[in-house]
Amino acid sequence: MPGAMSAVLSTITGMAMSVAEYNRIVTEWTRTHWDGDRPCPLCGKVAGWSTLALVEMRVRNTDLEGQEPGTSLPVVPLACKNCAYIACFAAVPMGVLPPVSPQGDTEATA
Ligand SMILES: [Zn+2]
Repeated sequence: MPGAMSAVLSTITGMAMSVAEYNRIVTEWTRTHWDGDRPCPLCGKVAGWSTLALVEMRVRNTDLEGQEPGTSLPVVPLACKNCAYIACFAAVPMGVLPPVSPQGDTEATA
């Protein structure tokens, strides 16, 4: 359901982002950062990858600066079309989401 997907993205990012724009950013980032045939690390097949909905992983315990318990790490999951193995990529460095300040607020982007 594209409408539901758009609503989820808007809730997480706090800004309007269409599924088409999400897919465009992920596809472009993958094309420019993941060389070769992109084989699956689990099954070894070159079956291709499906882009799944943006999700957040909750931080539990850590001593890393900027990753306090209760915060979340937004990730873009890609699923192997053969075995369904999921590879997760950090959404902020990919450009799917703007950087987050230490207070947890998204930084304004021009
Ligand atoms: Zn696989």
